[in-house]
Amino acid sequence: MADKLLFRDIDEPGLNTMDVYRRRGGYEQLKRALGMPREAVLNNLLASGLRGRGGAGFAMGKKVSFLPKGAMDIYLCCNADESEPGTFKDREIMQKNPHLLIEGIIIASYAAGANKAFIYIRGEYVLQADILDAALAEAEAAGFLGEHILGSEHSLSLVVHRGAGAYICGEETALLDSLEGKRGNPRLKPPFPANQGLYQGPTLINNVETLSTVPFIIKMGGEEYAKLGTETSTGTKLVSVSGHVRRPGNYEIELGVSSREIIYGLAGGPPEGRDVKLWFPGGSSSPVLTKDDLDLAYDFDTMAKAGSMLGSGAIIVVDDSTSVVDVAYKTAYFYRHESCGKCTPCREGTNWTVKMLERMKAGEATPMDLDIMASVCTNIIGHCLCVLGDAMAMPIGSMVEKFRDEFEAYIEARRVEADLATAAFPE
Ligand code: NAD
Repeated sequence: MADKLLFRDIDEPGLNTMDVYRRRGGYEQLKRALGMPREAVLNNLLASGLRGRGGAGFAMGKKVSFLPKGAMDIYLCCNADESEPGTFKDREIMQKNPHLLIEGIIIASYAAGANKAFIYIRGEYVLQADILDAALAEAEAAGFLGEHILGSEHSLSLVVHRGAGAYICGEETALLDSLEGKRGNPRLKPPFPANQGLYQGPTLINNVETLSTVPFIIKMGGEEYAKLGTETSTGTKLVSVSGHVRRPGNYEIELGVSSREIIYGLAGGPPEGRDVKLWFPGGSSSPVLTKDDLDLAYDFDTMAKAGSMLGSGAIIVVDDSTSVVDVAYKTAYFYRHESCGKCTPCREGTNWTVKMLERMKAGEATPMDLDIMASVCTNIIGHCLCVLGDAMAMPIGSMVEKFRDEFEAYIEARRVEADLATAAFPE
C-alpha cells in the first residue's frame, strides 16, 4: 500500500492551527502553484486523473477545463454537506486539518480563475464549521486569502456557509439554490454548474476530499500522482468503514486494493463468530454486494463492473445476524424522510417502498409485493431531477434481487405469526 497523503499527519496534535500546519510544510504548495502559470496548474490536475471524491467520480481537471473563459465571475463551491449515510471522512479532514482544505481551495480557485469561493457545510457539523472559521481567520491574517495573495495577481474571498441539515442540499444544484437563499431543490441538468451555477455564473463544485488532494498533486506533479492507484482510478482514497466491523473508522487506501483487505485487514472484519452477509461499497445509496465480492479490487471501475459503485467511499458492513428486510427498511426510511418532494417518482416511490416494507414487517405482505417493490424501484431510476430517488431504488432493488429467498421466507414467517396472533386473540 502507498504512503498516506491526506492522513499522513492527521493525528498530529494542533494540526488545525496555522503554526503546526506550516511546520509540516503547509501552504508551500500554494506558493509553488502561484509561481506557475494558471494553465500549468490545470495541466497537473488533468494529468493526475483525480476523480471526484464526493461520489460520482467525475474527473476534476476536466470539470475545471469546462469552465467558460471570459469576463464573467467564476465561483468555486466546496461541497462539505457530507450526509451520505456511512460517510464521515470529510468531517475528519475539516476537524483535524482545515488548512489543507483551504490550501486546496485556493490552488483550485487559481486554476479555475475563481475569485469568490464558499464552503457549504452541513448544519450538523457545528464543531467543524467553527474550526474552519478559525482557520479562515488565520489564513486571511497570513495573507493566503484576500487581495493579491502572496503578491500575485490572484485574489480570493472564502466564506463558510452553514446548511440547515437537509440531505438534499448535498446535491450540487440544491446546494446552489440553498446558498442563494432559496429552498434547496435540485435544478434540471444540463446546464451543469460548470456552465451555469451560482447566481447563473460558471461554478466549480468539488467535494472536501477532492479539493484537499490538490496540494499533493502540485507537490508530486500530476503524472507522478497518477502512478498511484489504478490506471482509471488514480491516487489514494479515504474510506469510512462502519457497521459490523471490529475497528470502524476512516482509512486512507490506495485505490485498487482488495475490498477484503479494507474490511478485514484494516477494519478487523465482523465480530467473532459472524460472517459478512452484505456490504454497501459506496454509502447507503450504492447497490449492495455480498461476501462473494470481497476479493474485488476497490476502485471506481471494478465496483461499477460489479453492478455497484465506489460512491463516497463509505463501506457499510452488515453481518449475518441482521435481517435484510431491516436493512432495506432503514435505508428506504432515510430516503423517504430526505426526499425534497419535487419529483413525483421519488416522493411517491420512496413512500410506497417504506409502506410495502412495513406491510412485510406486519405480516400483511405476499411475495407479489416483492415484484411490485422491484418495479417501483425501476420506475424511480432515471426519472427524477436528481439521484436521491435512485439512491433508494438502487440498493433496495439489489437487496430484493440478491436476497429474494430471505425476503420470501421473512414474508411467510411474519404472515404465519400474524395469523396465529389473530387466531389466539380474535376481535
Ligand atoms: P453526476 O454524475 O450528475 O455529476 C458529477 C459531477 O460531474 C457534477 O459536479 C456534475 O456537475 C459534473 N458533470 C457531469 N457531467 C458534466 C458535463 N457534461 N459538463 C460539466 N460537468 C459535468 O452526479 P451527482 O448527482 O453530482 O452526484 C451523485 C453522487 O453523489 C452519487 O453517486 C452519490 O454517491 C454521491 N453522494 C454523496 C454524498 C456525500 O455525502 N458525499 C451524499 C449523497 C450522494
